[in-house]
Amino acid sequence: MKPAPFDYYAPSTLEEVLALLGQHGDEAKLLAGGQSLMPLINMRLARPAVLVDINRLPGLDYIREDDGMIAIGALTRHASVASSNVLKKSCPMLPHAAQFVGDLQVRNRGTFGGSIAHADPASEFCAVVYTLGGEIVARHAGGSRVIPVEEFFEAPLTTALTPREIATEVRVARIKGAAWSFRGIAPRFGDFVLAGVGIALDFDGEGRCGACRVGMFGVGPTPLRAYKAEQSCVGNRLDEKLIVELAELAATEADPSSDVHASAGYRRELLRWLVGWNLRNASRKHQEEMK
Ligand SMILES: Cc1cc2nc3c(=O)[nH]c(=O)nc-3n(C[C@H](O)[C@H](O)[C@H](O)COP(=O)(O)OP(=O)(O)OC[C@H]3O[C@@H](n4cnc5c(N)ncnc54)[C@H](O)[C@@H]3O)c2cc1C
Repeated sequence: MKPAPFDYYAPSTLEEVLALLGQHGDEAKLLAGGQSLMPLINMRLARPAVLVDINRLPGLDYIREDDGMIAIGALTRHASVASSNVLKKSCPMLPHAAQFVGDLQVRNRGTFGGSIAHADPASEFCAVVYTLGGEIVARHAGGSRVIPVEEFFEAPLTTALTPREIATEVRVARIKGAAWSFRGIAPRFGDFVLAGVGIALDFDGEGRCGACRVGMFGVGPTPLRAYKAEQSCVGNRLDEKLIVELAELAATEADPSSDVHASAGYRRELLRWLVGWNLRNASRKHQEEMK
């Protein structure tokens, strides 16, 4: 199919982008990598009257450590996330997750800001930022605001951004130590997952869990955290009995739905298995680091 007609702008400054968004409001859509938006427009599932192409904006393609967090510019391509040495050192879950996003072409064009703003419930990048904690910097004509990631994802493909805002930067917390794990299950490598889990653990000197984050994706309207499982993990040794209990608990905290790819029950079963697998994997990595 061909897209419905639209006006196209390709501004070269952020001020011009903000002025266009201010002028056209929800009639306008930002175009970044186009890997999610263009299929929707071509199928006429989205019919923006105005497309504002942000690919010519300077200074939004970077990855750097900033005040204890990692700051990622909105126009940073997925391929740059996959190969970043800064991320490999301070937030290795992100480059690890990047290899599962689409294929080479998608990763060369797709942007980190676009992924976060698109808010697909099965998005790897949304899941990592939600699991580790972070914030999104949004600019509008009158100024800017910082949105904590817990308040950012509202529903499938829906975020706290208003039509007059652009996300300029995503900040994600650093990972302490080696005790993390991330894995999803997709029908084929590079497809969107049916279910996925990211885990980051901290252990005290006695081998007890000091901090625990369990993120889940593809099993709810937004990325989710398994807060009850996290609380049950802290202060305890991660033995096989506890791992099975935590996986059961996390499965009760998911909110999967059925679609043509899988039933809700199957997704919950995958999730239970993934939580166990990721906990064992993170624990094994921690023990190897301690040797
Ligand atoms: C074949 C294929 C397979 C894929 N597989 C996966 C996968 O396995 N996992 C996965 O996570 N993704 C997958 N994707 C999606 C891909 O990651 C997209 O790159 C991503 O979802 C959107 O990024 P983009 O830069 O392409 O955004 P665009 O498509 O340009 O925009 C997406 C949406 O975000 C808005 N937007 C873009 N940038 C900003 C900004 N800075 N501020 C505010 N709003 C903004 C746009 O207006 C639009 O509504 C796949 C895509 C394809 C085509």
